[in-house]
Amino acid sequence: MKRVFATEANVVIYPASGTGAWEAALVNTLSPGDRVLMAETGQFAALWRKLAERLQLAVEFIPGDWRRGADVAAIEAKLVADKAHAIRAVCVVHNETSTGAVTNVPAVRAAIDRAGHPALLMVDTISSLGSLDYRHDEWGVDVTIGGSQKGLMLPPGLSFNAFSAKALAATDRATMPRSYWDWREMLASNATGYFPYTPATNLLYGLAEALAMLFEEGLPNVYARHDRFGEATRRAVRAWGLEIQCAEPADYSSVLTGVVMPEGHSADAFRRVVLERCDMSLGQGLGRLSGKVFRIGHLGWFNDLMLCGTLAGVEMGLALAGVPHRKGGVDAAMGYLVDAARHALPRAA
Ligand code: PLP
Repeated sequence: MKRVFATEANVVIYPASGTGAWEAALVNTLSPGDRVLMAETGQFAALWRKLAERLQLAVEFIPGDWRRGADVAAIEAKLVADKAHAIRAVCVVHNETSTGAVTNVPAVRAAIDRAGHPALLMVDTISSLGSLDYRHDEWGVDVTIGGSQKGLMLPPGLSFNAFSAKALAATDRATMPRSYWDWREMLASNATGYFPYTPATNLLYGLAEALAMLFEEGLPNVYARHDRFGEATRRAVRAWGLEIQCAEPADYSSVLTGVVMPEGHSADAFRRVVLERCDMSLGQGLGRLSGKVFRIGHLGWFNDLMLCGTLAGVEMGLALAGVPHRKGGVDAAMGYLVDAARHALPRAA
C-alpha cells in the first residue's frame, strides 16, 4: 500500500468502510474543540464536516458551489488570518465523488507553506487512490484517507490511513477518545505481524491481488488509462450537448464524470430507463444535486470497450427517456480512444 500512497510513512488498514478512516484521521490527531478548516467541494466534504462536528471539532467550512475543487485562495486567506495558529488541520477531498471535481493537493500544501502555518494537512483519497496520481510524501500530506471499494477494485470493507511523523507526534497531545482507531495500538501490533483485533482477512487476500494487478500494469499506466477515460467521456458529453458538472477544466476528474440534466428533466427518471433497458446502473445525484445530475463512473478494472459500452448505454437512454440531446457522443469518444491508441502504438520503422 505504501507504493500506492507513494509514501515511506506509516500505513494502517482498518476493517471498516471509508467513513471509519475519516474518523480515525481526526480522533488520532485532534482534541475536542480544536479548529479545523474544511472546504465544501460536494456531498462527501459535507459528510466529513458532519462527522467532525459530531466529534466536537470546531469546523470552519469554506463554501463552494459543488462545481470545482477546494478554493485554495480561501484556504490560504483563512490560514494567514489565523495568527494564533488555532487551526489544527486543513481537510480536503482529493476526488469529490459527488461531482467529479479534483482538488489540487500540491496547491493546498503550497498555500499552507506560504502562510507559514503548522496545521496538519489531511486528504480524503477514497475515490482517487489507485486511479489518480497521488503522492503522500512528495505533496507533504500528513494524513491520507483511502478506501478499498473504488480504485482498489475490491468490495467495501477496508480503509486506510497513511500518516506522517508529524501526524503521529500529534497523537501525544490529542485528547479525543479513541480505542478501535488508535494508530499506536495498530502500529505496535502490525510490527509483530498482527492486528489488534480480527482483520478482514478475505479482503486482505483480495487487496494483495488488486495490488498485483495495479503493479503489473504499472501505476503511471493506470493513471494514464483513467485520464484517457475521463477525456473520452467528456468528449461524449459535449457531443451530446450536455453540461459537465465540474465547471473548472483544471479540476476535471478522471475517475467519474458528473453530467447535468437539462432543465425540466429528471436525472433519476433517466437513470431508471437506463437500468431497465440496458441493465446499467449510473450514479445518482447526491445531496443538493439529487435528481439534477447523473454520474458516469470510469474507474478501476475498466477498459476502452467497457467505456464505449457505458457511453452507448447513456446515449440510448437519452433517446429512450426523451432527453433533448444530439447524437454522436459515442462516436466522439471512440475517435479520441482510437487516436490515443494510435499514439500509444510503437511507430513503424
Ligand atoms: N469520501 C469519498 C470521496 C467517498 O467517495 C466516500 C464513499 O463513496 C466516502 C468518503 C465515504 O466512504 P464509505 O461510504 O466507504 O464509508
